[in-house]
Amino acid sequence: MQTTVRGVRVWDGEEELGLSDVEWLGDRLVAVTPSATDTPDSGLSLIPGLVDTHVHLDTDAVTARADRNWAIVTPPEERSLHVLAQAQTAMRHGVTTLRDLASDPTHFAVSRILDAELLTGPRLVTAGPVGMTAGHGDLFTPPHYPYRPPVADGVDECRKLVRHWARAGAHAIKVYTSGGVLSMGDRVEWRNHTDAELAATVDEAHALGMIVAAHSHSSIGIDRALAADVDSIEHATDMTQRQMDAIAERRIPVAPTLLIHDRLKTRVDDVSADAREKSAALEDARARTLREAGERGVRFVLGTDANGVFTRFGDQMAEVRIMAERLGWDARRALIAATSDAANAIGLGEVTGRIRVGLGADMVLPDGRPWDDIEELDTRRIRAVISRGRIVSGDLRGERLPRPS
Ligand SMILES: [Zn+2]
Repeated sequence: MQTTVRGVRVWDGEEELGLSDVEWLGDRLVAVTPSATDTPDSGLSLIPGLVDTHVHLDTDAVTARADRNWAIVTPPEERSLHVLAQAQTAMRHGVTTLRDLASDPTHFAVSRILDAELLTGPRLVTAGPVGMTAGHGDLFTPPHYPYRPPVADGVDECRKLVRHWARAGAHAIKVYTSGGVLSMGDRVEWRNHTDAELAATVDEAHALGMIVAAHSHSSIGIDRALAADVDSIEHATDMTQRQMDAIAERRIPVAPTLLIHDRLKTRVDDVSADAREKSAALEDARARTLREAGERGVRFVLGTDANGVFTRFGDQMAEVRIMAERLGWDARRALIAATSDAANAIGLGEVTGRIRVGLGADMVLPDGRPWDDIEELDTRRIRAVISRGRIVSGDLRGERLPRPS
């Protein structure tokens, strides 16, 4: 079906185009043209749908509580429906592309169903995790529990696990070069994998056409990610100046995951004392490094670590506002980091992230000009969301939506 919106101000993911008519056919943008001079200004804008490069969809979508056991004891058939529900919630809040960074066959299934357009949802990029025994990923499962996600120890097992995920249908690979916060009994400073294991994992992933995202909090972990030639760094909390410059020069995308760490500090009821302590220790580094890294040209992209608990699916616009504030970036730069450059960072630059003929029809119709004033990037201003060519929230007349839940 062909759909046209007339007389909207378009910000295409990089630049403002002025009053335009935008037309799409199915999931393809087919025309973006200046409006005829007598077209009335609708007062609305069109921007690309946001791209969140770091989420975890595999969480209880109903109660949104930090129950570590839920994912472990819930059968995959049921979890896959939660993955879909979380993805659709994000989509209705203007996030039309998601990359899940700890995917398993439930995520691969949902991604394929959405690609086949059997159900309505966002674009979903999946990443299979390659982590070691006692690594960050492994420590989300209690030590004695018999049914565990796969781990890889030694270079051969690393290569094999990458191949396993490739066969299962993963788009990307996730590795860990330091410990983490929410994993039980974990220490942030623990080494995850040897350099040889990391190098083998990245080599194998690249050979099979998959990019690699590295979870790295500590400076040592960041160095190890850089040495392994990964394609993005997640968190990058304790960056040194030398690392900021190297990351900026190599244009390696970094997901800052800001809101989740704010919330780990303040949620006393459902965050363990151990996790709160680890998060607080990282917070000092974060406060010191973020503004400086922003100024030194580190390529931050939207990556929230949303899991529906500490950061919800729908908080992404708030995260972008906080990125602008903490990194000292203007609205346009923050919005690029959440749209066109986030799409580039996950290999979808020619698929989505911009309003351009030939690309997918993923757009948000807000009331306001968020590329001029980032405070206008707000879910309460969304009048419609178009995902893969379908109007999935609101309508194109621009009526105010009931306040999104
Ligand atoms: Zn994560």
